[in-house]
Formats: sequence, C-alpha cells, structure tokens
Amino acid sequence: MNYQRFFEEAIDQLHAEKRYRVFANLERIVGRFPRAIWRDGGDQREITVWCSNDYLGMGQHPDVIAAMQQAAGNMGSGAGGTRNISGNNHPLVELEAELADLHGKETALVFTSGFISNEAAISTIARLLPNCLILSDELNHASMIEGVRRSGAEKKIFRHNDLAHLESLLAAVAPERAKLIVFESVYSMDGDVSPIAAIADLAEKYNAMTYIDEVHAVGMYGPRGGGITDREGQAHRMDVVEGTLAKAFGTLGGYIAGTRAVIDAVRSYAPGFIFTTALPPAIAAAATASIRHLKNSQMERDAQQRQARRAKEVLSAAGLPVMPSETHIVPVLVGDPELCKKASDRLLDRHGIYIQPINYPTVPRGTERLRVTPTPFHTDELIDGLKDALLETWEALGIPFAQKTREERASSERIVPLVVSKSGG
Ligand SMILES: *Cc1c(COP(=O)(O)O)cnc(C)c1O
Repeated sequence: MNYQRFFEEAIDQLHAEKRYRVFANLERIVGRFPRAIWRDGGDQREITVWCSNDYLGMGQHPDVIAAMQQAAGNMGSGAGGTRNISGNNHPLVELEAELADLHGKETALVFTSGFISNEAAISTIARLLPNCLILSDELNHASMIEGVRRSGAEKKIFRHNDLAHLESLLAAVAPERAKLIVFESVYSMDGDVSPIAAIADLAEKYNAMTYIDEVHAVGMYGPRGGGITDREGQAHRMDVVEGTLAKAFGTLGGYIAGTRAVIDAVRSYAPGFIFTTALPPAIAAAATASIRHLKNSQMERDAQQRQARRAKEVLSAAGLPVMPSETHIVPVLVGDPELCKKASDRLLDRHGIYIQPINYPTVPRGTERLRVTPTPFHTDELIDGLKDALLETWEALGIPFAQKTREERASSERIVPLVVSKSGG
C-alpha cells in the first residue's frame, strides 16, 4: 500500500468533481464589520464579507469583547481540564443558567461546539432509550446525522418538512415504542422554516420525543432571541432545544436545554461531553454577555430582517436567481459546481466581495449556490454594490439569470426603497 498515493488520489477525486475546498485567508476588523483583510500570496486587500454566520455582528460587540477580555484577565486562557477533572468554571455555570432561561427550560448543558452538542446529545438520548426509533428530516445537518449514526438506533428519514410522511412513519410503529423526532427550525442552505407546532402535535399524538436544532435561529428570532420556538411559543413543547454560541451569539460552543432528567443523562453518559476539556471561562463570559444583550435588544434582529428583505428585493429585481427563503438567508442559485467556484473567485478578485461557494455534499448536485447572509451592518449601499458585482459576474461567466417574464421583471423593479438607518459599524 502506498499511503501517500492513496491520499493524493482521494484529493484528486475532489478536484475532478470540482469540489475541492480552498479557504480564503481573512482577518476581520473590529469596528468595521463586515470588512476584513484578505491575504493572497504576498498581497493584502480589504474586502467585504457577505457570507458570515456572525449573523448580527455580535462577535465584535463591545460588551462581548469586554466580557471576554475581563474573564481572560481574571481567570486565564483555558479551562484547565474536563469538567470531571477541573470542575465547572464559574462563567460556564452562569452561561448555562442564562441558556435555560432563554429557552424556558429547567436546565442547559454547554459543549465545545454545536456540532458536538448534536452528535453527543442525539446519540446518547437514542442509545439510552430502549429500541428507540429515530425520525429524522432528510435535510438535517451533518452533526445531527452523525448523532443518529452513532446512536446505533434504527432510523427513518422523513421527506423535508413533510408532515404527512412523518405521520405515516409514526403511525406504522407500535405505540409503546420509544421514538425521537429530530429536526431543525431554520434550514440554513434554503432559509426555510419547519412547521414546529404541527410536528409537536404529531409528537403528542404518537408519544414521541422532540429534538430541535435552532442553530440558525437563536439570537435572531423571538422577542428574546430564543429562536423560532420562542417566536411561535413552542419551546415548552420541545423536549430538547439545541443551539450554538458560534453564530448569532458570535463566540464558540454549543448547548442543549431541556428537563433536568434528560440533560443530566446526557451530562452523565455522553463521551463527547465527559472526555473533553471545557469551554474556556473567557468564551463562556463572552457568550453570556451576547445572549443577555440580545435578550433585551430588538434592534439587531429588526435591522437584520430589514437588510435581508432588501437584499432579496434588489437582487431579484435585477433578475438574479434568488431562491425562495423565509428567513435572513439569501441563497442565489448557480447550479453548477465549477461555475459556483469561479463566481466566488471572481467576486473576490474583481469586486472585493467574499462569498464562499456552496457545493455538494452541503447541497444537492445541480443546486450549487452562493449563500448570502446580510447583517445589520450590510447597508443599502453595500447591497447595491453586491447587486452590481453579481450582475457583472453572472454575465461574464454565463450563469443563468432568473426565469422571469418581462412583465414580472418590470413590476418587481418598482420596489419602494426602504428607509434604513445606519446601524453603525
Ligand atoms: C453550524 C451548524 C451546527 C454546528 O454548530 P457549531 O457551533 O458551528 O459547531 C449545527 N447545526 C446546524 C444546523 C449548523 O448549521
């Protein structure tokens, strides 16, 4: 066996399929969100980031940075060990209380990432339940799929957001059998939202547990930023709410919130929780500051929604193939992996705009796209600049425009400009 050759060929395979990933070398600039420095070989240039999951710019909010600096100054950089060995650092205790309150749950448990929280919690819950059947939405995130796989439990995949299909699967199982429905609230590649109340109804009817991933909603939806379940008053009907501290909250880590019994079982049985070093106190303190801020401030949520709506309107009016989305996520269809990568490269090279290409397996083949995430800091001027850059790129590379009649295009061009206050930056 020639080991080096083997791995080289594995990489060649990705090149052949045009889905080899290259990461840009970026340095974000505090106070100037969404601007960043891009280093390309010996050159460096300032660019605008249009695809950040720091959805509200909280990663550079002064309160969040101050909390991080203060905790690091007082308590040092690391946690000093697993929680089993080093105990709970105090900021982590505060963070978990804050999260339990955010979701109206008895308790919460923090992990080192959202990925680990899904993998550890789903696998542990489904492994502990005897003969558990997992019902999993077909578009669930890789971390949830990993949790399902690791559990060793039987699984049935239901068609995306398809209640009739979910019900037919539930109805086919013996009523007394343990069942766990795992799904997301906001699906991050299409920006659509699941029918949470209807899924909760089915879970009640068939006595199933519910596990919802609110990673792309926490901080951004609901009057206190508790996610779509907060907005729709459904959190109390979910057995487990999972979220991340790394996207809208702008730091790092993941968590689950639920009843004492369920959360304590995961704490006590999940290797992915037990055998890894805890989140550093500075990160926990920063996350708490961010959550507290967003519990009390609606401004960021409103501005994000306004700018996302405006971006959708402006890009659609220009004939760009904006995919339908109910949320802050604005996917623009390219439909080809090579063109998608080329479009991304051209936007960066020529226009100083960074949007990473989204290719298979993150999305199905043929639906390759650019995924735009406007934030409160993407002003109307930046949106107009994005539109011009995308138009130039679409024309230069021959990417298909939206299939629209001339009448539709003409009427959608008569959009009323929104009045947007500058959200600072
Ligand atoms: C990003 C993501 C995660 C993982 O969260 P991290 O904190 O980044 O590890 C989990 N679920 C979904 C749907 C995600 O998009």
